[in-house]
Amino acid sequence: MSGLRVGIIGGGQLGRMLALAGYPLGMQFRFLSSSPDAPAGQVGELVVGGFGDRKAVDRFVAGLDLVTYETENTPVEFVRELATRVPVYPGLRALTIAQDRLPEKQFFARLGVPTPLFAPVSNRATLETALSHVGLPALLKTRRMGYDGRGQFRIRTREEAEAALEQLQGEPGLLEQHVPFERELSLLAVRGRTGETAFYPLVENHHEQGILRTSLAPAPGVTRDLRLQAEGHVRRMLHDLDYVGVLAVEFFLVNGTLVANEMAPRVHNSGHWTEEGAETSQFENHLRAIAGLPLGSTRPVGHSAMLNLIGTVPEPDRILAEPGAHLHLYGKQGRPARKLGHITLRASRREILEQRVSRVRAALGG
Ligand code: AMP
Repeated sequence: MSGLRVGIIGGGQLGRMLALAGYPLGMQFRFLSSSPDAPAGQVGELVVGGFGDRKAVDRFVAGLDLVTYETENTPVEFVRELATRVPVYPGLRALTIAQDRLPEKQFFARLGVPTPLFAPVSNRATLETALSHVGLPALLKTRRMGYDGRGQFRIRTREEAEAALEQLQGEPGLLEQHVPFERELSLLAVRGRTGETAFYPLVENHHEQGILRTSLAPAPGVTRDLRLQAEGHVRRMLHDLDYVGVLAVEFFLVNGTLVANEMAPRVHNSGHWTEEGAETSQFENHLRAIAGLPLGSTRPVGHSAMLNLIGTVPEPDRILAEPGAHLHLYGKQGRPARKLGHITLRASRREILEQRVSRVRAALGG
């Protein structure tokens, strides 16, 4: 038993699933969240308080061996201060880059990783410059705190661009070329404290209204060249950041080229299939990495699909009647557009998996 005491900043489903994966390794967990009903509080000690609440932060840190975070929207200054008291993984650079779309895109570009044309926008003048550089169609996104398609505007005309700028209400934004992608793929990698690195197979992701709905793993029809392209890009990122933990990178596939959209310095929704579909889940591997333990195999076990449960949850018996299906509920209250759980499905053959996905979709009502 390592008995390692791990602190997690955030109390959402990612923190909850990290803890559930860490208990078999003898780890203990404490969460810091401003929400008293954070779902992670059902599976570990929850300290309720904001980042500026000294007493809460002291209670959170006391006796911890290391800290990780489940959201890249954790303030850098808070983590910098925390890191003087307890080791925090992944490191500050990864966090700083991933929480702002501008340095994130600059980081990709510096490493020679293709990324959509982009330009910062904060007012009418910078919007003009950005439009002439990026062209139309484009997307105007808030640089910070955007997730699940929030703070994002599709732009086809100059008028739409001006309206979107109004919507930003003075917040810094980024204009980004609209990429006519064929597919969306993500690559999850894990890197240990000694630099040991492993990659999960590429995953195919389907979004609706900016929210991930379905992932297929391994992504169908991935050539060796495409896999090596993705691994090469992500390997350079890991090395440059001296990264420790799981890193997720989302790509668009355009004419055989991978174009990086964004990265997340944490476990990721497109890696939930690994809970039953890989020899070692992303959650366990993230914990192994930050704890300095040997990494587990990332080998897929058959073909997997992951379906997000958004807004409502189904009757469990309808889902569990399907062979190869597993239900993961997050213990959250239902609300439109809220991720409440997911289903993983696994099969030895892709055709069987597709049939299972169709039946479960029908049981979910569409
Ligand atoms: P994001 O929050 O940047 O991950 O965007 C959410 C989703 O919006 C992506 O998964 C894509 O489906 C779509 N999207 C974002 N950026 C672009 C882009 N530059 N071109 C085309 N689609 C995009």
